[in-house]
Amino acid sequence: MQNMLSPDLDPHRLARTLAGRHLIDGALVPAASGRTFPVVNPATREQVSEAAFGEAADVGAAVAAAVEAQKGWARLPARERGKLVAECGRRLTDHVEELGRLVALETGKALRTESRVEASVLADAFVFYGGLAGELKGETVPFNPDMLTMTLREPIGVVGAIIPWNVPMMLMALKIAPAMVAGNAVVVKSAEEAPLAVLRACQIMAQVLPPGVLNILSGFGPECGAPLVTHPKVGKITFTGSVETGKIVYKAAAEKLIPVTLELGGKSPMIVMGDADIGRAVGGAVAGMRFTRQGQSCTAASRIFVHSSIHDDFVARLKAKVDAMVMGDPLDERTDIGTIISDGQFEKVKSYIRIGEQLPGAKANTCSAMPADPKLARGLFVQPVIFTGIGNDSRLARAEIFGPVTCIIKFDEFDKVISEANDSEYGLAATIWTRDLRTALDATRRLEAGFVQVNQNLVVQPNLSYGGVKQSGLGKEASLEAMLEHFTHKKTVIINMQ
Ligand code: ADP
Repeated sequence: MQNMLSPDLDPHRLARTLAGRHLIDGALVPAASGRTFPVVNPATREQVSEAAFGEAADVGAAVAAAVEAQKGWARLPARERGKLVAECGRRLTDHVEELGRLVALETGKALRTESRVEASVLADAFVFYGGLAGELKGETVPFNPDMLTMTLREPIGVVGAIIPWNVPMMLMALKIAPAMVAGNAVVVKSAEEAPLAVLRACQIMAQVLPPGVLNILSGFGPECGAPLVTHPKVGKITFTGSVETGKIVYKAAAEKLIPVTLELGGKSPMIVMGDADIGRAVGGAVAGMRFTRQGQSCTAASRIFVHSSIHDDFVARLKAKVDAMVMGDPLDERTDIGTIISDGQFEKVKSYIRIGEQLPGAKANTCSAMPADPKLARGLFVQPVIFTGIGNDSRLARAEIFGPVTCIIKFDEFDKVISEANDSEYGLAATIWTRDLRTALDATRRLEAGFVQVNQNLVVQPNLSYGGVKQSGLGKEASLEAMLEHFTHKKTVIINMQ
């Protein structure tokens, strides 16, 4: 085991230190081609570092290291692996501040409201999964009294994990922690917009893990993600990203007949009944819409159905609350709302706002104030917009915008609102706000979503299965079930004792 890394609280310096590197076989190495691509701070649009440009050769090296390392890793007693993974979590805990600052720098997510929180969740996920190692149990099966029949949970081998930029550390953790505990080795492909904090997190974990068990590559989808999916030695792909790319990944994996977990988009409904605690529901809308993450969340409560009896009051209170949020430098402790991740996403969000403004009857309630600091003048800031006066069939209510844009849709009848909530190609999350138990229970049964909450809007939690239905994806994450179902094979063994 190497010496412990000390946290570096200067994210600019740390970003430069990590420049142009993958982590392969326990070492930080440049791309085989030597190529790099820029890493940009979206709050200033200045380049802060560069990342290694991963291609098939890098994928080949990382997978070869993983194949080799996996053999010994899988032979360790399960709880030994669990202890090492939990130790990764403890080391990451010492780096929460550092990782929070680094992810704030590269993604534009505010440190206090988002980035620091994400870094703690990252650490916690490894501690959580490390403790589940003893649960990798098989079963005995009543088959023939003269034959001992049982199942064994075995690792798949090498897992490819493809992650997005919106919560890169947390989403990486929910994939690689269970994969490693189950005895797999992993090759992660980070998102091109956010390669640094995840690389740093893997570097910290590489001090604890045997070389090659955890590898991470940076690069773009077609050049680096695609060869990872198609590599013959990768036995499982776990992916979080857009529906479009998810389908490409699924098709490529089908050619190899390997299992895939897909966490894709959402257009999550939040239903506020007339009897709801309106203050709590307004708070829930702010949290659920992830305004502090600029709405860049697949579970964002981006369709808020509000009963007509409280509609105007709800809108006024929500607007006041979002207006009070401070947009600014993501690294400033006073900031609630940072920036959009990239020029492309910025243009996309702006174009949806323009579409909304032109919808007949729609009103765009623009909230909060643009930052005054001239250093941030070129930053990718978008003022949150709460649209009212639109229907569930409008483009704004159907498309996943992935920005700080929500629609408030008025309703009168419960049955009708449930069918409107379900009238979406997505089915990731949903919430219902009411004081009536019967209404709450009825809604939880009828809402078509993988994650349904009553009177709250929490994010993904370790121990609770998370994953969508319909176009929102396949498979679950974050739970024991996710580890067993998605990162192991079940082998049936019969021992004839006659
Ligand atoms: P977004 O549009 O939000 O960036 P994507 O679904 O395109 O979402 O990206 C999610 C992840 O998938 C990123 O790491 C990206 O590089 C990767 N990716 C993109 N295209 C492919 C592909 N063809 N094969 C594998 N991975 C890909």
